[in-house]
Amino acid sequence: MPRAYAEVLDRARRRLDTLDWYPAPVRLKRVRLVVAPWFFRVPPFRRFDGYALHNTILLRLPPGAGGASDDLVTHELCHVWQMQHRPLAMPLSFLRYGYGRNPYELEARRAAAETAG
Ligand SMILES: [Zn+2]
Repeated sequence: MPRAYAEVLDRARRRLDTLDWYPAPVRLKRVRLVVAPWFFRVPPFRRFDGYALHNTILLRLPPGAGGASDDLVTHELCHVWQMQHRPLAMPLSFLRYGYGRNPYELEARRAAAETAG
């Protein structure tokens, strides 16, 4: 993973470390940031610019100016943090609640908003 990607992940981690919403801080050890524009051409994912899997954050655009913002990476890393504590319940919640009113989605939005510089 490029050094710049590790740095953007670390900035997001430091933002989440100011929140105490889960018993343990987010662990970055196995988390990778991958720029994968092809993923966001697949119809169900077209509306997203980022997507979190358990240990991988997919981004439509590279981080940095004109690309993925720190806010977006913080939002996606919050989803990773959620899955570190609720590895099944969090992903399954999207089947139950959908997207817009999903409590984990709202929490990730709040994480980015409340920690914005
Ligand atoms: Zn989200």
